[in-house]
Amino acid sequence: MSDCIFCEIAVGRSPAAVEYEDERVIAFADLYPIAPVHILITTKKHIPSIAKLASEDESLVGHLVLVAKKLAENRQLEGYKLIFNVGEKGGQVVPHLHLHLLGGWDTKPTSLPA
Ligand code: 5GP
Ligand code: ZN
Repeated sequence: MSDCIFCEIAVGRSPAAVEYEDERVIAFADLYPIAPVHILITTKKHIPSIAKLASEDESLVGHLVLVAKKLAENRQLEGYKLIFNVGEKGGQVVPHLHLHLLGGWDTKPTSLPA
C-alpha cells in the first residue's frame, strides 16, 4: 500500500534504521522510542492489524516473534516486552501489523504500560 508508511519503509522508499530484514519481515528502530531499546518488527505484507489476521498468516506471525527474540538476544537484553497494539482503542496508530520490542531499562519496569 503506497499510502502506508511501513509498506514504504519495507520497499526502501522511506528511510529507517533497519536492524534486520528477510523476505518476510523487516525490523527497524522506532522513530519516537519510549524505551532505551525500541524496535518495530513488521511484516512486509500489508496486514492492518492482529485483528485482520488470516489463518494462513500463522507462520508469519510466529516468525515475527522469533525475529524479535533474536534481536533481543543480539542486544543482550535480559528482559523485554513484546507488544502488539490492536486497533485504535488498543493504542494502534499505524495500521500495519507491527510488534514492539521494548527493553534496555536499568530498573524493573512496570508490569504493563499505562
Ligand atoms: P502503534 O501505536 O501503531 O502500535 O505504534 C506505531 C509506532 O510507530 C509508534 O511507536 C511510532 O513512534 C512509530 N512510528 C510512527 N511513524 C514512524 C516512522 O515513520 N518511522 C519509524 N521508524 N517509526 C514510526
Ligand atoms: Zn502497510
